[in-house]
Amino acid sequence: MITTLLLALQLGTPPVYDRVILGGRVIDPASNLDAVRNIGLQGGRIAVITTRALSGRDTIDARGLVVAPGFIDLHAHGQTPETYRFYALDGVTTALELELGTSDVAAWYRERSAGELVNYGVSIGHIKVRMAVMHDAGTRMPVGDGAYRDASAAQIAEIAQGIESGLREGAVDIGAGFPYTPAATRDELLAVFRVAARTKTPIHVHIRPGVSGLKEALALAGETNAPLHVVHINSAGLAETPAMLEMIRHARAHGRDVTTEAYPYDAGMTEIQSATIQDVYKAAPDERLAELEWPPTGERLNRESFERYTRLGGPLVIHTNTEPMVVAAITSPVTIIASDAYWQDGTGHPRTTGTFARVLGRYVRDARADVGAQHAAPLRHDTLSLMDAIRKMTLMPAQRLEARVPAMRQKGRLRVGADADITIFDPATVIDRSTYREPSLAPVGIQHVIVNGVSVVANGRAVEGVAPGKAVRGVAPR
Ligand SMILES: [Zn+2]
Repeated sequence: MITTLLLALQLGTPPVYDRVILGGRVIDPASNLDAVRNIGLQGGRIAVITTRALSGRDTIDARGLVVAPGFIDLHAHGQTPETYRFYALDGVTTALELELGTSDVAAWYRERSAGELVNYGVSIGHIKVRMAVMHDAGTRMPVGDGAYRDASAAQIAEIAQGIESGLREGAVDIGAGFPYTPAATRDELLAVFRVAARTKTPIHVHIRPGVSGLKEALALAGETNAPLHVVHINSAGLAETPAMLEMIRHARAHGRDVTTEAYPYDAGMTEIQSATIQDVYKAAPDERLAELEWPPTGERLNRESFERYTRLGGPLVIHTNTEPMVVAAITSPVTIIASDAYWQDGTGHPRTTGTFARVLGRYVRDARADVGAQHAAPLRHDTLSLMDAIRKMTLMPAQRLEARVPAMRQKGRLRVGADADITIFDPATVIDRSTYREPSLAPVGIQHVIVNGVSVVANGRAVEGVAPGKAVRGVAPR
């Protein structure tokens, strides 16, 4: 295909690209380009970005729209055709499950080897490996010995070996969630961090709550020299989010390899039977149970309903955060946008379908309009520019992974030779529509989404019968 192009250039005839995207406002955080350009795609890659006229076998008219690198989600729990479709409609072209991960990396990739709607990948997960080693009966998360029983020295060695073999099989990185495995001792966690350090693999950690939880993770990473990624700083931090963002900024300024991410909602969601819920709310005063919402009915819980639904099992909405903390997390220069998409048995959190559109609509466009309406004064520092928002959705997640996943160097950027993963949206109308009551509503304003050169969303609607998404895998450590 490239040779055809070269031939056309040599003969002086203008090349005809597979597809051209014409007249869009092209925004590329890697080069800081923000200008009207035409883009030509060929063979699944970007072949040209230019002000010259282009022709293609297929044309997308992008006038009035923003053309951005496809969004990369580092925290997408749903990894099914249904959830890949949700993500695509929200502008996501690469969806990675890096927190829980899997205990069997080879099988996980094999199940998707026919291709999916978007690019996909997984971590080797400490939680999942521990569940296997400790013979836990839980399906998604530990409910028995995986959560509550100390591992013997031999079992710790087996867990570390399981993580290393997952990396050899091409896991994107290592996942962990300390509140889901409360019995894991410091020695066990150190063994996991040592694998991360030795293989130079980022470890994505759901830390214990608050400043003390972050201190623990930073100490484990510091002692072993492991690269650390702190997941959903908003829900890990709650009222302590600003202090924790400052700790991460400070660590980075001192040369530490520490990153973090956030999602733009003030309520969380997780499984009612998990240790992270049971350990907090079983012993909490009865009034605190009203923080919990049962999604099928929308009711706030009390002691009786909490116990009844615990026996049933299922996802739970947790109302414990505030809007100012969400704003602090989303607008901080250190945070990557990641959805923590959560979808199970036909219901889930609205972040599954709305995270990226919500940041672009609510925290970029509407926040600036609000400030402008109040006073023509300088913008508040806690608003986000379109360039910076796109950087948090594309370049920053790609850079977090690219040391171990060289393929990520071709994603998160609009440049010649990069993968043709592209999201085209209307900055004037883009907004999420999903709610806690109706979490499956697609956003508006995400007009076209292209994965490896193939449209997966066209004119705001999912394209059926295509599977251009490829496996994203780490390189085996030496
Ligand atoms: Zn989590």
